[in-house]
Amino acid sequence: MRRSDNGGFGQLKNRGNRYLAEKPRNSPTSTTRCVKIAIFPNRESAVTGITIALSKGRIFEETLPLLAAAGIVPDEDPEKSRKLIIGANQPDVRLVIVRASDVPTYVQYGAADMGVAGRDVLIEHGGTGLYQPLDLNIAKCRMMVAAPEGFDYASAVQQGARLKVATKYIKTAREHFAAKGVHVDLIKLYGSMELAPLVGLSDAIVDLVSSGATLKANRLAAVEHIMDISSRLIVNQAALKLKRAKLQPIIDAFQRAVEQ
Ligand code: ATP
Ligand code: MG
Repeated sequence: MRRSDNGGFGQLKNRGNRYLAEKPRNSPTSTTRCVKIAIFPNRESAVTGITIALSKGRIFEETLPLLAAAGIVPDEDPEKSRKLIIGANQPDVRLVIVRASDVPTYVQYGAADMGVAGRDVLIEHGGTGLYQPLDLNIAKCRMMVAAPEGFDYASAVQQGARLKVATKYIKTAREHFAAKGVHVDLIKLYGSMELAPLVGLSDAIVDLVSSGATLKANRLAAVEHIMDISSRLIVNQAALKLKRAKLQPIIDAFQRAVEQ
């Protein structure tokens, strides 16, 4: 049985933006490999192996080329698989698929050694216990204040009006408006912030904007830029000391790929 260089997974294909191993069909290798368990088999390998926390969607997609640069090819696509733990071509590497806002928590407590998280998420989390060696320049967007198209936000602020602002990003919004001396009542939401001003829940929102198409579709306009957002590599501080021999080459490979 001939094994290819990437651990018996056949051709490594860049399918669009995909850097996933393509399993050869009807081959004995694929059968045995399909049942490979990504959970480290014993306590020892959990201590020496590397666990990387990623969220599904754009972060996973945009991290794939960086992982590939470090020689790491996930076994499966989390969009298609229901598995929360995904193995890789390197037996001592596994990926855990978590909600974007949970990535820093998994890394902080050492359940994952490293992960990729947006600056938005890191600010809300606070960054405790996290080493943030690299801005990966992926999942780029902007944190903005937005309001209904007809709303004169600038004069409302100038007149010292007390604004109702709906957002998922309470800490970022609080700091932004406090620094500007604007009085706001913040309303915490978990999704679809754009709806809040349309139904009278708030005067404005603080949300992430990339193309602005969602704002436009809901007759909202960006009225203030808060900060540029991109995703960062985060590493558990203790893991970096204990597993430096394995983590540093990954960090270095990510850095080279980002600088290219
Ligand atoms: P969910 O959409 O399931 O509520 P989420 O919004 O936290 O979760 P994603 O939409 O996958 O998760 O976003 C993950 C990260 O990608 C965000 O934390 C942010 O840094 C970045 N991001 C969010 N929206 C955009 C966007 N429109 N364009 C580029 N990057 C974005
Ligand atoms: Mg989202």
